Amino acid sequence: MKGKETKIILTEKEMPTSWYNVLPDLPKPLPPLLHPGTGQPTILPPPLFPKGLQDQEFNKERYIEIPEEVQDIYKLWRPTPIIRAYRLEKALDTPAKIFYKYEGVSPAGSHKLNTAVAQAYYGKKDGIKRFATETGAGQWGSALALGCAFFGLELKVYMVKVSYNQKPYRRILMETWGAKCVPSPSKDTEIGRKILAENPDSPGSLGIAISEAIEDAFGREDTYYSIGSVINCVLLHQTVNGLEAKKAMEKADAYPDIIVGCIGGGSNFAGMFLPFVKDKIEGKKPNLRIINVEPAACPSVTKGPYTWDYGDVAGMAPIAKMYTLGHTFIPPGIHAGGLRYHGMAPIICHLHKLGFVEAKAVHQVTTFQAGVQFARTEGIVPAPEPNHAIRVVIDEALACKESGESKTILLALSGHGHFDLAAYDEYLTGKLQDYDYPAEKVKEALTHLPKVEYVEA
Ligand SMILES: *Cc1c(COP(=O)(O)O)cnc(C)c1O
Repeated sequence: MKGKETKIILTEKEMPTSWYNVLPDLPKPLPPLLHPGTGQPTILPPPLFPKGLQDQEFNKERYIEIPEEVQDIYKLWRPTPIIRAYRLEKALDTPAKIFYKYEGVSPAGSHKLNTAVAQAYYGKKDGIKRFATETGAGQWGSALALGCAFFGLELKVYMVKVSYNQKPYRRILMETWGAKCVPSPSKDTEIGRKILAENPDSPGSLGIAISEAIEDAFGREDTYYSIGSVINCVLLHQTVNGLEAKKAMEKADAYPDIIVGCIGGGSNFAGMFLPFVKDKIEGKKPNLRIINVEPAACPSVTKGPYTWDYGDVAGMAPIAKMYTLGHTFIPPGIHAGGLRYHGMAPIICHLHKLGFVEAKAVHQVTTFQAGVQFARTEGIVPAPEPNHAIRVVIDEALACKESGESKTILLALSGHGHFDLAAYDEYLTGKLQDYDYPAEKVKEALTHLPKVEYVEA
């Protein structure tokens, strides 16, 4: 960067008008989704998803136009800034140049609104009235609540009961934006009533909440189901962020040597790195490193086998080829609720298998230490999820100090932590603990993988 510019901000006119679809650029085709009943290749279940999403999921066009109405809404907070972390660099005494792309400026506080708006748009276009979805700590539910509010759609959110009781603020946010939110298991679905009959005190789980939302959407003609990560089209919607980052870096005459992000289902980070991985696939940037960071307590990519597994706990969702800890695996209660998924986006898994991206796992306490250092230098209090990425950014910057190399590091800062202050409180009062990798539980869960006969061409 010339002089001491701190922010690189694109104008509205420079905002991308298309999303980037990596599928046609993959050197080997992505394995298909398999139907949970027949075990044969399938599309996204049509009664559950908008046609617009069906068209995108396995699309072969490199650039897919962002509908004008979606672009107009994006402009409420996009383009999001890239900020040079001078103060963190100084604190670390590193020759590395650290940049972060900040998605916390969205009204929902994270990247999730990028796909929520797109999904609500395509639902509205099909003439439906209502969406049903699940949420853990409420990040996805609140983003979709706003997405639906923009298009005048109703939303029913099944929120995991322990979070519903312990973390009221995101529920209130959902209700403020007009969504109806119930604790899951609820009395509103067959599966919810069944679980409550067996165990009235069930704390709920993301798997149960997914099953309730899917049952709700299957049962009503006017309702679609919505998912906030993992599937190809959600990653596609998030590429608006990576395309902006690439353009902004070009403006600053910079290109990253290392890109770092956290992965739960993989959407925020893939949205950032996919436009860059294209350069690596094409051989233009062979040395670019792309580091996916996951929690040591739920390490699907670093510890799981690359195999076929259900997307959900109940085995109702399609089967995908991915690194997985087993669909019945329930990870320890780390604060990064968004990183507790048993599997990973098939696109990220495929790129990892082909050697284009790498993965690291980190423990919880050290991620909060990194997040607090970031907050005290750069000001922003990050969400617990991107704290995982910040840990690795700091480690890479310190490695540069050792070697004297002045590498350029780009961090995907997916959201702020204003609703996660109880977690910071635990860290600051010394109560936060690490969880060991639950090897026995994973081993058990891996005995429940589906038997798949499908053979890839
Ligand atoms: C949900 C969430 C994540 C994890 O989801 P991905 O699909 O992997 O991006 C990461 N960061 C924030 C702030 C989130 O809300």
